[in-house]
Amino acid sequence: MYISMRIFSLSLVVAVCFHFQAFAQDNPTLQLTKVQDSIYMIQGRGGNIAFQAGSEGTLMVDSQFANATPQILNKILSVTTQPLRYLVNTHHHGDHTGGNDNLKGQGAIVIAHDNVRKLLYGEATKLMDKASEEAYNNAMKRLGNETNPENQKLAKQEAEIAAQNIEEEAMKSVKNLPAITFSRDMTFYHNGEKIMAFHVDNAHTQGDIILYFTKANVMHTGDAFINSGYPFIDTNNGGSVDGYIKGLSRIFYVANDDTKIIPGHGELADKDDVQYLHGMLEFLRDRVAYHVVAGKTDAEILQIKEMTAEYDAKGFGDGFISTEKILQVLIADARKKYPTAGKK
Ligand SMILES: [Zn+2]
Repeated sequence: MYISMRIFSLSLVVAVCFHFQAFAQDNPTLQLTKVQDSIYMIQGRGGNIAFQAGSEGTLMVDSQFANATPQILNKILSVTTQPLRYLVNTHHHGDHTGGNDNLKGQGAIVIAHDNVRKLLYGEATKLMDKASEEAYNNAMKRLGNETNPENQKLAKQEAEIAAQNIEEEAMKSVKNLPAITFSRDMTFYHNGEKIMAFHVDNAHTQGDIILYFTKANVMHTGDAFINSGYPFIDTNNGGSVDGYIKGLSRIFYVANDDTKIIPGHGELADKDDVQYLHGMLEFLRDRVAYHVVAGKTDAEILQIKEMTAEYDAKGFGDGFISTEKILQVLIADARKKYPTAGKK
């Protein structure tokens, strides 16, 4: 509480004194864009943030990383001094939820899909499990004789200590937990605008929601759509190729030709951009499946350059997900669907 109050008063002082320079150096890429009416976008190191400003307060979508909170608050303060009321997370990834705890300190109520809460808990458990497993294996390597009960006991003790040591770090994701969660859809009535939040199943993750500001005709898709290359489909956290494709079609069914679409990452987009990504992913999924069924090996499929040539020429593979990476995800997906393909 003390820390976040300090951040807030610091932000105010900075905003009032126009001393943006110092913060700007910390995060040179933070950029504020007016999207439509009272909806703004903030781009920075993490996922794109949207916020709606108005007399009832501010509704914010996603929070980037924790260390960017002061700069983000400065950007919001340059538009409105109304209190922050709601923070909606599009999914659980740290580049979209890292600032949650700081913003709770500013009075924001954090809202997300049910699975965001589960996945953030899971992140903490995963970190602690990993530390404890590593410590156990290291101890066993040092002690030798893995079947000796004394050695096992010692290794277990070291594993427990390792998990405790990382607990504070691991619990950071737990501090970012949403206070209100929902399973399908939710509607906000805020600042005279109806805002629809709807869940898309197993797309980028298993906790994705898309927000639609109906009056301003602006959408925030989270990472269920990105405008910066091949998409990241987080299959370890419930994302799936078919779910991602379905999610994209849901976006362009809801959108119209004038809808401004804030992607999870990248520049402001429109319906055509979403349709293009949808067409690309459908095409690549089907081509890759064809080659898998035809019995080609992973290495052979990765060599078929003409499959991705059109997209690579547009720079799709230059982002977070390389051409090889997206093909690997598509190959794994096809092998799961056709487990006997290529086996005689
Ligand atoms: Zn993400």
